[in-house]
Amino acid sequence: MPLFKTVRGMRDFLPDEAKAMKNLENRARRIAKLYGYDEIITPIVESYELLSAKAGDEVRSRMFFFKDLGGRDVALRYEFTASVARLVATAFRNEPKPLRLFSVGTLYRYDEPQKGRYREFWQSNYELMGSSRPEADAEIIMLTDSLLKSAGLKGHTFKIGHVGVLRSIFHQEKLQEDTQNAIMQLMDKKQCDAALETVKNAGASANAIKTIQKLMKLKSNDAFDVVDKMRSCVENYKEAADEVDNLFKILKLISESRCEIGIHVDASFARGLEYYTGMIFEVNVPELDIALGGGGRYDKLVELFGGEPTPALGVAHGLDRILLALQMQNASPKEQEASAVVVIAVQESLIAEAMKIAQKLRDAEIRVEVDVMGRKVAKALENADRKKIDYAVIVGEKELAENSAVVKDLQRREQKAIKIDEIANLIKSGNLS
Ligand code: AMP
Repeated sequence: MPLFKTVRGMRDFLPDEAKAMKNLENRARRIAKLYGYDEIITPIVESYELLSAKAGDEVRSRMFFFKDLGGRDVALRYEFTASVARLVATAFRNEPKPLRLFSVGTLYRYDEPQKGRYREFWQSNYELMGSSRPEADAEIIMLTDSLLKSAGLKGHTFKIGHVGVLRSIFHQEKLQEDTQNAIMQLMDKKQCDAALETVKNAGASANAIKTIQKLMKLKSNDAFDVVDKMRSCVENYKEAADEVDNLFKILKLISESRCEIGIHVDASFARGLEYYTGMIFEVNVPELDIALGGGGRYDKLVELFGGEPTPALGVAHGLDRILLALQMQNASPKEQEASAVVVIAVQESLIAEAMKIAQKLRDAEIRVEVDVMGRKVAKALENADRKKIDYAVIVGEKELAENSAVVKDLQRREQKAIKIDEIANLIKSGNLS
């Protein structure tokens, strides 16, 4: 038999990596709690029709698509939003709004594997359903900032745009939806000239072309300056002007809430998925040239899946990339870990006693390993040091006769005989003396 490797684009998480991912997952879960988002768990396999409904050709071509044994067209989820929108159109149809929903788990895209880009990757995802107001948009951005700050990340900035502005101009110019999508996809790939060419070929007016050309150049870290310029650019387009005003209100709320969030506004910014209708954003750090997360408003998606018209927006954070960015900033935060303990029997006849003590400690929620290699005490202690275990409980005949065992603090190199009933409290208090 050959030695097997993981499938291209798939990774194993060895204990330290798995621990880091699970810590970040729990952090994301805590942020969800703090902002009032309820966790839901949706299937990894969804109908291809659902996932592809508003995905765009590019995304569709990278889906893990297959027929199941019953002949159904299915795919591995490439995002959470479609599943959440499905639920809001069905199970949550009559739930009072707003709904705040959180999911975390793995997603699948047939991307070209490279640093920070995998075919199986992790996201934490937050959807806020039922509000069209700018405070909902501001909340999603502030929540993202809270997660990144709480994970220990520094120097991240938000790139913010608004697809509603361009789409309103296209709409007023009576451009077909397909053409609009094609233009947005070109802009997502930063092919602005090709996008403009498509606008021209679709028969847009000279005024529209001039307006779009000007908009495409507007970007700056001075958020309100860009918004002012966008406003004067779209003077002749009433709906587009309303969309610029919406962007202004979102930015104002964020700035007035004093969150100290780094923001760059880019009027030419577009994102790959077709379903966005309003504010869109991405979050980046200087250390990586790929985004750590992104999201935006998609007011038509729930309706598309047969639900009530439901204004909504959401964000997905790439957990693998956040971990990578933390690593590059040397900031991998060490979670406050509970003490780890090894219980060692001095002789074979005491193993059952050692296991009994281990059980007692686990009942007190202490992490315990029992030596299962029949090692001598010195060897078992050496191994415990290697594994950075905090305490050893050494079970010997003499102490056992007095209902005690020797507890050794492996960092301070102190040890003491302690009554078995008191070991758990003592380890939890972290103080042997
Ligand atoms: P999206 O759903 O495309 O908005 O992606 C949201 C976030 O998921 C991105 O900003 C990335 O951080 C992460 N992400 C997307 N694709 C991948 C991938 N192939 N590998 C790792 N992370 C990814």
